[in-house]
Amino acid sequence: MPHKPRTISGVEVTPLCDAVGPMGPTIRRPLTEMFPGGGLADGPWILHFHCYLLRDPAGRVTLVDTGIGGTDSPASSWAPVPGTLPGELAAAGVDPAEIGTVILTHLHSDHASGAVVDGRPLFENARYVLQQAEADAAQGAMLDQILTPIKGQLQVVDGDAEVAPGVHVHLAAGHTPGHQIVRLGELAMTGDLVLHPAQLADPSVHYLYDDDPVKAAATRAEVLGGLRAERAVLATAHFSDPFLEL
Ligand SMILES: [Zn+2]
Ligand SMILES: [Zn+2]
Repeated sequence: MPHKPRTISGVEVTPLCDAVGPMGPTIRRPLTEMFPGGGLADGPWILHFHCYLLRDPAGRVTLVDTGIGGTDSPASSWAPVPGTLPGELAAAGVDPAEIGTVILTHLHSDHASGAVVDGRPLFENARYVLQQAEADAAQGAMLDQILTPIKGQLQVVDGDAEVAPGVHVHLAAGHTPGHQIVRLGELAMTGDLVLHPAQLADPSVHYLYDDDPVKAAATRAEVLGGLRAERAVLATAHFSDPFLEL
């Protein structure tokens, strides 16, 4: 079921809980290897996989990330597929055809795979917003099974952009080359800028699956520092609590 919504700048924000579970054995490692130097004791890491649904008073609907996808998704080798995004949208009272903007924070298989069902874009009337650097770096299954089918609906941006009224994207690279975060008023939907609460306590803690761990840590420190200074509300993909006051 979706988590409890919040209203931010007049926009209703509903966290959709696409899946909850551990990583599969193909990529699971002890937490001490996943977050070296994070001071974590080893133990199970149960991830939530969140997407965020934004509904403004004018009826515009925006979706941030699309989750892990179906049983045939590129995430199926490691994530608890199938994701429940279509059911989560129905529970929130939204038809996929109503969604005008889909923002993909990055092209990892647990964030973008739900964009395509049976080889076709699930959100037939949406623009799919992606950073140029992320589109340029796409390869393998994410290119063939996800990016290629949505190519005709892609809105490629470079850096900062307002992609729906009051909804801004900002390049926050490191986790992937074109990783972006999304702002709506005091809310920051941060994709995989932060994977585990240990990185809130110490942004320099690396994550094993950051493409560029040094750049990711620098970006994390800079962005989190700014968000803390403005007392922003953090909305992460993988924490169990979908909203966190900084
Ligand atoms: Zn959840
Ligand atoms: Zn990622």
